[in-house]
Order: sequence, then C-alpha cells, then structure tokens
Amino acid sequence: TLATVDPLTGLGNRQTMMTQLLGERDRVIRLGQPCCIGLADIDHFKRINDAFGHATGDRVLRAVAECLRNAVRPYDILYRYGGEEFLVCLPSASLESGVQVLERMRLSVAALSLTDTDGRPIPVTATFGLAPLSADISVEDSFEQADNALYEGKLAGRNRVVVHHPRPEE
Ligand code: GH3
Ligand code: MG
Ligand code: MG
Repeated sequence: TLATVDPLTGLGNRQTMMTQLLGERDRVIRLGQPCCIGLADIDHFKRINDAFGHATGDRVLRAVAECLRNAVRPYDILYRYGGEEFLVCLPSASLESGVQVLERMRLSVAALSLTDTDGRPIPVTATFGLAPLSADISVEDSFEQADNALYEGKLAGRNRVVVHHPRPEE
C-alpha cells in the first residue's frame, strides 16, 4: 500500500491519482456523464510550519485531510498530490454541483478550530480550483485548468473557490 497511499494522511498519492483519473475520463467519454476535479491548496502553510513547527504542520495536514474527506460523498475520491495540496475527483458532478461541494469543503476547513500544544489557535484556510474532466482535453490539461483557477483564487486573496472559465479561443 505504500506505493499507492500517502503515509501521513492515508489518502491516495499522486501516482494512484493519475491512473484513476484516466479511468474517470474514460467513463465521461463512455457514459456521457460529467465529472469534475477540484484542487485544494492550504493557504500560507509555510507560515504555519514557521510559527508552530513542522510536527504541528504535519498534524494540520492530517486534520485538513480528514476534514476534506468528511465533506465529500463516499464515492468522491481524495488524493494528496503534493505537500499541502489535495485533489478531489467528483464523479457525475456538473461544474455547478462541483462548486457547491468545494464551497462546503472550503467552509469546513475554515471552521476547523485547531490549537497547538500550548492552546494557541492555528488559523487554517484553503483555496480551491475546479475544472471538468472532458473528452476534448487530456487529464493533464484538466488538471492545469483547475490549477490555473486555484492560482487565480490565491491572487484574489485566498480562502475561496474559483471555477475554470474557458477563454474564447478554447
Ligand atoms: P500559498 O498560500 O501561496 O499556498 O502559500 P504556502 O506557504 O502554502 O505555499 P508554499 O508552496 O510556499 O509552501 C508550502 C509549504 O508546505 C512549504 C513546505 O515546507 C511545506 N510542506 C510540504 N510538505 C510538507 C509536509 O509533509 N509536512 C509539513 N509540515 N510541511 C510540508
Ligand atoms: Mg502549494
Ligand atoms: Mg499553500
């Protein structure tokens, strides 16, 4: 399981994620059902490590992973694809319902009331980007669309959900 599961959070890792997303995209093509992917990146996580230490940072990562898992349906799949970066695959979700799921995830992360060993509150928020899986583009391109949306959310002030908006030439 070490090759497929992230030991810190118990979530699927990046390799598992890419393989399973290819399968989900195939289902989109075969069944004509929508599917979207959401990316979540913890805001200013470096500051959390700096202020509270790496061990507390790890505890925050576990708490956020659990919080995200509790915010989605059983058949939505969560992965930890980077240090403080998560992906959720939302089978049969349109972009409209995907936004609602990510908004729920965003609110539950912001509502976590974590404290360090001295009882000091640890503020945690995350920024989210959403994009559809589609027959027209590769999984990698969908990932990039979601990542660009997330980046927009960071620039706009963090702690928000941004949906990929196709540019006129797309
Ligand atoms: P932003 O709001 O723009 O996302 O800022 P950020 O500080 O979250 O982003 P940045 O990419 O600068 O920092 C991510 C930090 O996450 C840096 C790295 O040390 C930390 N990190 C990555 N993996 C782990 C881990 O497994 N445990 C801990 N404690 N920290 C980690
Ligand atoms: Mg990051
Ligand atoms: Mg971050």
